[in-house]
Amino acid sequence: MPARTPVSAGNWKMHATNAEADALCEGLRGIDAIAGVEVVLAPAYLQLARVADRFIGSGVGIAGQNMHFEEQGAFTGEVSPRQLAEVADWVIIGHSERRQYFCEDDRSVNAKVRAAQSHGLKPILCVGEQRTEREAERTEAVLRRQLHDGLDGLELPPGFVVAYEPTWAIGTGIPATGEVAQQASALIRDLLAELQSPEIAETARILYGGSVKAENIAEFVAQPDIDGALVGGASLDAEQFTAITRAIAAAKSS
Ligand code: PEP
Repeated sequence: MPARTPVSAGNWKMHATNAEADALCEGLRGIDAIAGVEVVLAPAYLQLARVADRFIGSGVGIAGQNMHFEEQGAFTGEVSPRQLAEVADWVIIGHSERRQYFCEDDRSVNAKVRAAQSHGLKPILCVGEQRTEREAERTEAVLRRQLHDGLDGLELPPGFVVAYEPTWAIGTGIPATGEVAQQASALIRDLLAELQSPEIAETARILYGGSVKAENIAEFVAQPDIDGALVGGASLDAEQFTAITRAIAAAKSS
C-alpha cells in the first residue's frame, strides 16, 4: 500500500433528482471493489440519505457539499454538522462556487473545518486561485492565505484532505496541466509542513480538481504530490467516474 491512500471524490453539485441519483448509484455498483482507493460521493443534501443507503457497508464515503458551522439554531435553509453527521462521513468545505456565489471566506471555512472535526466529519478543504491571481503571479500568496486563515488554530489529523482546484479550470473543460497542478500541490504540502507539521504534510492527501475526465486523469495522478481527484461534471457519468477511480488506484498502486 502507498503511504497515502488516494481519494476519488465526486461532487454532484446541484444535479440529480431522486431517480437520477438512483440510476447513477446503479451505474456505480461495484466501484467499492476497486482496491487501494477511497471513493467519496457528494450528492445534494436531498439525496444524501438515499445514496448512503445504496452504499451501506460498502466502504464508499458519503459527503455533504457544504454545511453551516453552528451546531443548531435559527439559520433558515442551512444544514448543521450535527445533522450532516447522521448521514455523511465527509464534507466538502470552501468549494470555489461557495466562495464565489455565497460569500464564503477563509474565516467561515475555518469555522466549518473546526465544526466538521468536532462532529467526526472528514473535511475536503478546497483551495485554489482565480485566473487573474495566477496571471498576477499571486498563486502562492493566495494558497498561503487560504491555508493559513482556513486552518488557523486547528490541529489536523494524519490523512487530512485538501483539494487544489484552480477556479479557471473548474467546469471550463480546460484543466490545468499536470506540471501546474504538481507545482501547486507541492506548494500546498510545503505550506502544510510549515503551518501544521512535516508529519501532517507527508500524510495529507492532496487532490486535483478542475475538468478532470477519464482521458486526462493519468497526467495528474502521475505527479508525486497529487493523491487523487475531486471530480465535478465527469462524476455524473458512472462510466467516467469509475474509469477515473480505476486510473487513480492504478497510478498509486506501484
Ligand atoms: C468541482 O466542482 O470541484 C470540479 C472540479 O468540477 P469539474 O470537474 O466539473 O471541473
